[in-house]
Amino acid sequence: MMRALLLMVAYLTLLPWTGNAMAAEPSPVLQTRGAATLQVGAVEYLLGRPDADFTQIAAADLPWQRLNKPNLGKQRDGAWLRLRLHNTGDAAKRWYLLLKWPVLDRVAVRLYYPDSDRWGQSMLAGDAVALSSRPLADHHFVYPLELPAGERAVVYLQLQARETLALPLELIDEKQLIEGKLRDVTLVSLFFGGILVIVLYNCSLLIFTRDGSYFLYVLYLLSAVFYVLTITGFGQLYLWPEIPELSARFYGLSAALCFFTPMLFALRFLGIRRYGGWVWAVSVSLTGYWGVAVLMLLLAPTLARYLFMDSVALLHCVVTMAVTLNLWMRGNPSARLFSIAWSTLLGFTVVNLLALNGTLPLNAWTLNGQLIGMFAEFVLLSMALAERINVERNRRIAAQQLALHASESLAEERALRLQAKQEALDLQLRANEVLEARVYERTRALEEVRHGLEAANAELMRLSTTDSLTQLANRRRFDRLLDEEIRRARRAGSPLSVLLADIDHFKRVNDSYGHPFGDECLRQVAAVLAAHCQRAGDVAARYGGEEFVVLLPGLDAEQAVALAESIRCTIAHLQLQHGEQPVALTISLGVATLTPSLVAPADLLAAADAALYQAKNAGRDQVALAAEVNAGEQTPALNA
Ligand code: GH3
Ligand code: MG
Ligand code: MG
Repeated sequence: MMRALLLMVAYLTLLPWTGNAMAAEPSPVLQTRGAATLQVGAVEYLLGRPDADFTQIAAADLPWQRLNKPNLGKQRDGAWLRLRLHNTGDAAKRWYLLLKWPVLDRVAVRLYYPDSDRWGQSMLAGDAVALSSRPLADHHFVYPLELPAGERAVVYLQLQARETLALPLELIDEKQLIEGKLRDVTLVSLFFGGILVIVLYNCSLLIFTRDGSYFLYVLYLLSAVFYVLTITGFGQLYLWPEIPELSARFYGLSAALCFFTPMLFALRFLGIRRYGGWVWAVSVSLTGYWGVAVLMLLLAPTLARYLFMDSVALLHCVVTMAVTLNLWMRGNPSARLFSIAWSTLLGFTVVNLLALNGTLPLNAWTLNGQLIGMFAEFVLLSMALAERINVERNRRIAAQQLALHASESLAEERALRLQAKQEALDLQLRANEVLEARVYERTRALEEVRHGLEAANAELMRLSTTDSLTQLANRRRFDRLLDEEIRRARRAGSPLSVLLADIDHFKRVNDSYGHPFGDECLRQVAAVLAAHCQRAGDVAARYGGEEFVVLLPGLDAEQAVALAESIRCTIAHLQLQHGEQPVALTISLGVATLTPSLVAPADLLAAADAALYQAKNAGRDQVALAAEVNAGEQTPALNA
């Protein structure tokens, strides 16, 4: 990312320059401080000539040009720098030349003293050089320059690097060297301390939320730490001092990782997949590209240059900015902070690069602007992650509340339905009860009616078969019973007799004592007849007017006559009274008995009637037995 931004700004701001061969004023590309006794000439440069040595370069008449900006761009064949110094003081002094871009592969420095025509020691530093081979162990490339009193010197630098030849140069004394190192250590410690906090914070979030976004973010942070360790030189100083073959590749590798890991993070964190279209296609392509680049830098570093990473990196910056802005506009809640974080880093990097190419002053702040930008980015991204936790928590709470409401209303509805069901059931139950009660009432009423009808029927039956005055059976009932008893007697071969009784001179009783008294006499006679019908099957009935009939199953003629005699006698002895006056009452009776020739009811009654007629004729108050019909004889009257 840094590399791409560096290139981007370099393309925009680094213009080709033409310089004077030698300038009297100090160069704008070299910071010198507290150098009162040191005259410093302009810095000049020469491109190419990688195989020449210091003495050849110094001897030849070469087209040196003035260096106006501390950046020579990419030079595959390297470059040379030279710089004239003059110690105007009266004491020998040691100065330090600093090159604060410690990713360059090899930078050799050698001093030529023209006054005495001699060369100093050759000094070598670079990330492709072991730390122990450097003239001084420092995170920057530091070259001590010995200047005897009053003597002049020309400093030659041979630059060899696959990286951009950015040249933040400083010329300082020992005190400033120590102060500067202290300041850098403090700054970088602050940065790493902050990053450590963010890493730990995100690790704990990863553990608690199990969200892969935090893992990818931590990967990104570690990549950035790797990158910063590389570009500040502290990595080589403290962590990998003696592996020059590897450390020479770390700048490219860490930069590629700083493209790859944030892409992985962004894919996951911004949920780019669900947006599809060009946003998804571009993001996946870039991620794949940087994945391949990382693998190639690890496995086949010599082929890596065919990936044209610088150009792709430039494209990457523009496209990813477009992607995040697009997602922001499409309402992605995380894209807002992500875009801000991204552009914050971009802003600080621009400041840094403007300082590197000389537009802005090159100082601790502008040189370390990337660190500030990066730190700001990480803080903002952490905020974005925290914001997402908040958003998701709110979303979860909202979802829970929704679910709660839903289940509550569901329960409510269920309760309502249950209640309705219960009410319907109650209603049905009550309706059933009412119905049952009504049915019961109806049944009872019907039962009552039935009972009433039965009673009425029985009463009607009784009334229709009973004589109302005497309460004896009436003639209709007697006829039916006579019929039945005759059949039974004939089946059983048992005897059966009939008495026909008639009150004597009853007309006279009526006439003498009145009709009501006549009725009373009728009731008295009926009571006597009823009293004589004691056996089951015996029936006394009113035959009509003052005539009565008695059915006697099981009695033969003799027994029947005896019973008739008893009846006659009882009536004759009734002590009837009309007022004070005693009234005598008698009856006559005709008896007929069932015989083989006398089986029809009408015939039996006719025989009894004939016997009664005979008893009347014979003087009344007596019993007469009907004669045998087939005998054709007269029925004899039995005298009392
Ligand atoms: P006999 O000895 O020949 O039978 O003379 P009798 O007067 O009894 O005969 P008759 O047939 O001439 O008269 C019957 C009388 O019975 C006529 C009638 O007034 C009376 N009678 C019939 N039914 C009733 C009744 O229900 N109540 C009363 N008080 N008298 C009745
Ligand atoms: Mg009569
Ligand atoms: Mg009579």
